Amino acid sequence: MSKVRVIPCSGIGKVMGLLSRETALEVTGRLCPDLAETACLAHLVAGDAEGSEKVAGHKCISIDGCTALCAEKSIEAAGGIIIAKYNVMDAMREHRGKKPGDGSNLTEDGWIIVDDFAAKIASKVFELQENIRCRSNNNCCSSKGEF
Ligand code: SF4
Repeated sequence: MSKVRVIPCSGIGKVMGLLSRETALEVTGRLCPDLAETACLAHLVAGDAEGSEKVAGHKCISIDGCTALCAEKSIEAAGGIIIAKYNVMDAMREHRGKKPGDGSNLTEDGWIIVDDFAAKIASKVFELQENIRCRSNNNCCSSKGEF
């Protein structure tokens, strides 16, 4: 099964970008490494062939840091198929008043935001990949005509 590509925006020097990147790393490196992987947005933006190949035609989840939606736009430009979109601004709203840190370092609050946000995205990855498994398994729900 092909892994879902979880692509964060770059946002160098901004806490929103750092939250986005750390969240993608937690999802792909710790929570569901067998089902998801990440790719470097800088390679996509630069039109680097290796970066584009990793995304083109594959299922992707974007994690953006603001309304500029750099990750989402870069995935689309590289021919990726976006199946879910997330924004750090929404995660921040759920932790109103918390101080996440700065573009270089996250505070304890920042890591709590990353943990919660990554758990939400990982749950989506499991849900999406489980649906694919069910469709290909004639011994479970697909045999009952539920799909
Ligand atoms: S989405 Fe926003 S925070 Fe992320 S790289 Fe673009 S401008 Fe920066």
